[in-house]
Amino acid sequence: MSSIFTRIIRRELPAYIITEDDKCIAFLDINPLAKGHTLVVPKIEVDYLFDLPDEIYSHLWSVSKRITRALDQCGWGTRVGVAVIGLEVPHAHIHLVPIRNLHDLDFSKPKLRLTSEEFEEIKNTIIACLSKL
Ligand code: 5GP
Repeated sequence: MSSIFTRIIRRELPAYIITEDDKCIAFLDINPLAKGHTLVVPKIEVDYLFDLPDEIYSHLWSVSKRITRALDQCGWGTRVGVAVIGLEVPHAHIHLVPIRNLHDLDFSKPKLRLTSEEFEEIKNTIIACLSKL
């Protein structure tokens, strides 16, 4: 069985995609902790981030840095918090979450409920910021 994220990569499931290249894809988390909560995911289906080949592992962090620079411009937080959890989806990913304080990175908090229009607007805002980098 392919992971949910592989199915997003193959376009079998929808997602609000921010950016993509031959090695990775980034899309909005469907149950976000904050506006702009983004997942950066390798295209190869490896469960644990730290089992990735070095080249892909480094690339994910480099793409994460670029997306963070864009999120920094979007105004949803004063910083971007980073988390590697992987308890729910067994396909490696990095969480990028705009935060203002420590509590904002608490994954046990209730998640935001956003409409598809809100997700779409957030996606377009991040893409616009990325394009200006
Ligand atoms: P983790 O595996 O790091 O514990 O959590 C997986 C994350 O993926 C969660 O924050 C969850 O909201 C997100 N997620 C789970 N299923 C989907 C999905 O189908 N689409 C998107 N965009 N995010 C998902």
